[in-house]
Amino acid sequence: MEQAAILHLEDITKHYDQHTTPAVDRVTLTLRQGDLLALLGPSGCGKTTLLRIVAGFERPQSGLVVLAGRPVAGSGYWTPPEQRNTGMVFQDYALFPHLNVAENVAFGLKNRRSGMNRTSIQKNTADAIALVGLSGLEKRYPHELSGGQQQRVALARALAPRPSLILLDEPLSNLDVQVRLRLRQEVRSILKEIGTSAIFVTHDREEALSISDQVGVMRAGCLEQLGTPEEIYTNPASRFVAEFVTQANFLPARRRGQLWETEVGSFEISNRECPNNIQFPNDAIPDSGELMLREENVILKPDNDAPLLIRDRHFLGREYRYCLQTPSGKELHARTALNTPLPVGIRVQLSVADPSIPIFPTIATSTPITPAYSATGWAMGNGQ
Ligand code: ADP
Repeated sequence: MEQAAILHLEDITKHYDQHTTPAVDRVTLTLRQGDLLALLGPSGCGKTTLLRIVAGFERPQSGLVVLAGRPVAGSGYWTPPEQRNTGMVFQDYALFPHLNVAENVAFGLKNRRSGMNRTSIQKNTADAIALVGLSGLEKRYPHELSGGQQQRVALARALAPRPSLILLDEPLSNLDVQVRLRLRQEVRSILKEIGTSAIFVTHDREEALSISDQVGVMRAGCLEQLGTPEEIYTNPASRFVAEFVTQANFLPARRRGQLWETEVGSFEISNRECPNNIQFPNDAIPDSGELMLREENVILKPDNDAPLLIRDRHFLGREYRYCLQTPSGKELHARTALNTPLPVGIRVQLSVADPSIPIFPTIATSTPITPAYSATGWAMGNGQ
């Protein structure tokens, strides 16, 4: 049975200043009850603004926000943040330094209009603290806790009133790598355990893909693509999504008969070349474009006469990442298993494991899009 929607955004636009481009530009999306949506995109693309619109901290100039079936903003409706039954978790934890863990968690309950009695407040507080694994630390003050523990307190505080929707604004960004990797899975388990819907803002693609049921990729205020992590990764709707979300190379190609010709060799054109969501006129196979070669799909074979040169090799723990140079000086990357390391300085033939290679329209100037830290992406030395 189709789950009910907890949130529906209809054509939301927000300008901070009428003379500049909108921070959020005609965004429409629906979040199902119990789902976790990650809003992913580079800094400044409007993720936080959209989250704040849902929370009620910002008013959109146009569009409609419907929360749990009730319009709360737009079309003449306005419900203030404290009446929206949402919980918020911020990047900097925003705990009260003079209150201990239990007092911080109970704070939202005491200030609620719900009229909770003392016993219910104590029970909700204890339940929320237990849920985030902090039982026994109730009397500690924020300065006596690690960053990860402080963020658990913030999560417990947001969960204690049992909101219908939790909004998390880059909640893991201030934590070190190990804590961050552990906490992101825990946050997901906790939210799933209690069935709370959530929106999670992040600029880290791996975080977004691993934690969420749906990913909304944003660019310059617009929602570029909305889909499951698998859909976004395997079938990116635009070059921007492909570049931001996947680890892929883009290689200029010209069509000749049934082949794509590139400076590093030819690739057969398969009939799955143009997924419907990649917009070429009439979905026809174009004469030229840029082939998307995923780093993990690239196969390298030593060949003295081949045009590609191995410039560098990085050991990533589970695999090697090769940095390759094309005759025109373009840099390509490949990630391969550890069993047969190839030496730096040799020439290699490039082929691709998946014969169906997506092609995207050529873009005039490719602005490099640097995804934030990726857990698999740290080079641990070079393997010359
Ligand atoms: P993100 O969360 O993706 O980094 P934001 O929603 O914070 O993006 O910002 C989107 C755009 O709106 C940016 O250009 C930013 O400079 C602008 N912006 C954000 N908050 C304000 C504000 N309070 N006043 C004016 N401009 C703002």
